Amino acid sequence: MAPQVLKNYIDGEWEESKSKEMLDVRNPATAEVIAKVPLSTTDEVDRVVQAAREAFQGWRETTPYTRARYMFELKNQMEERFEDLAAVIVKEHGKIIDEARGEVRRSIENVEVAAGIPSLMTGYNLEDVSHGIDEDCVYQPVGVFCCVTPFNFPLMVPLWFMPYAIACGNTYIVKPSEICPVSQMVLFELLDEIDLPPGVVNMINGDKRVVDALLENPDVDGLSFVGSTPVGKYLYAKAAAHGKRAQCQAGAKNCLVVMPDAVLTQSVPAIMSSVFGTAGQRCLAGALVVAVGDVYEPLEEMLVEAASNLNVGDGMDETIHMGPVVTQRSLDRIRGYIEKGIEEGATLLLDGRDVQVKDYPDGYFIGPTIFTDVTPGMAIAREEIFGPVMGIVRVDDFDQALEVIHGSPYGNAASLFTTSGKWAREFEYRVQAGNLGINIGIAAPIASFPFSGMKDSFFGDLHGQGRDAIEFFTDRKVVITRWF
Ligand code: NAD
Repeated sequence: MAPQVLKNYIDGEWEESKSKEMLDVRNPATAEVIAKVPLSTTDEVDRVVQAAREAFQGWRETTPYTRARYMFELKNQMEERFEDLAAVIVKEHGKIIDEARGEVRRSIENVEVAAGIPSLMTGYNLEDVSHGIDEDCVYQPVGVFCCVTPFNFPLMVPLWFMPYAIACGNTYIVKPSEICPVSQMVLFELLDEIDLPPGVVNMINGDKRVVDALLENPDVDGLSFVGSTPVGKYLYAKAAAHGKRAQCQAGAKNCLVVMPDAVLTQSVPAIMSSVFGTAGQRCLAGALVVAVGDVYEPLEEMLVEAASNLNVGDGMDETIHMGPVVTQRSLDRIRGYIEKGIEEGATLLLDGRDVQVKDYPDGYFIGPTIFTDVTPGMAIAREEIFGPVMGIVRVDDFDQALEVIHGSPYGNAASLFTTSGKWAREFEYRVQAGNLGINIGIAAPIASFPFSGMKDSFFGDLHGQGRDAIEFFTDRKVVITRWF
């Protein structure tokens, strides 16, 4: 069967793009083309923005309770299609089915939180600010928002934003990752089922050209971006230049610090899942293990043993621990970093480059890889590899571990493994990273908390999810009243 050509969803209708330019979407386990994604034209961008703009007034006048009811309906649709959604994620991204189920669950949780909009969007007031004068602060929707999202959580990341935006009364445009656009298509089939008024939610496929056109369009009020740091920096500046609000969540290089008093039997499985889960393609993935003092030798031995036991294969196989990486390009980049690490003088303890997966000769597989003798100046310690490669750095004490963390331009996440409350508090107090784990390998905030980030991992002030999202998607209007 010929692969499906993906459509755009504009003003409540599925539309074929007029663009002649298409990209192949491949199953990373087999390299088979599963869909073709159009790189939509700037005319199509203008139309999608116009549809969202025209839908805004009617939607903003729809009561918050009615808007919330659509969230309940979307949740129900997603629960019904839970396993299908998870399978689509595996097919386009490669992650293992259990991780895909986790992604669907967190996606639904964001819809559930947004269903609380009648209480989340309330303002506040104060009587008698002066004699006979009262003051109110009301939260109002802003207009048209869009998101531009990465390949690694193709279903969930748009849902860090879209449910909050529309529950607050805005209209919305999703620009999915062109590498993994299929799960958004399935999500929009569900959105189509719940019969939102046309134009409230829209989707346009494409790449940089579509993103630039969205930001240059005066009818777009704001952007939520998640992706790499260079693109995040560029889009944050571009959004500001065009007078739009923006929140740009970006790249990462996260440290997992292991203190000499850590419980290694429980810390090592958490570290494994942090570094090698989703084949290292998570912005919260641990990349550097910072071993403090004499924990180094036993830790190194346990990490290599645990990583050697991970099975690599097709994510649909329930016995597999790690799937392929997303594209041939990613595979080449990760292999390049392994070669670079060898050149830089790090010691390769476990080499994933020769992994063979029976019956999957064309998949983009790479096995768990571990370097030791990594120093903070090396490229493999500084740069985001975004693959299943662990670097172990040895330091003498807690302060040196913090120096390693703070030597990085990134500030997305950091974890500490310890049994000491003192070190845990110092870590929380001093570390400049947005999402911290204490004896937790992946510090992923639940839907009602902001998905944080600092330094070169975040550009903006309000994050995705939770209360931050409500603030981002509203304006505060102050009304001062006196009656004669
Ligand atoms: P990417 O930056 O290549 O692409 C992200 C999005 O930006 C895509 O939709 C793409 O079409 C668009 N884009 C790419 N180049 C562009 C350009 N020059 N102009 C305008 N738009 C452009 O990122 P990716 O490879 O899809 O995702 C991986 C990255 O995302 C990693 O760096 C990872 O750390 C990061 N990430 C961050 C978070 C977070 O919350 N901080 C979460 C997930 C992923």
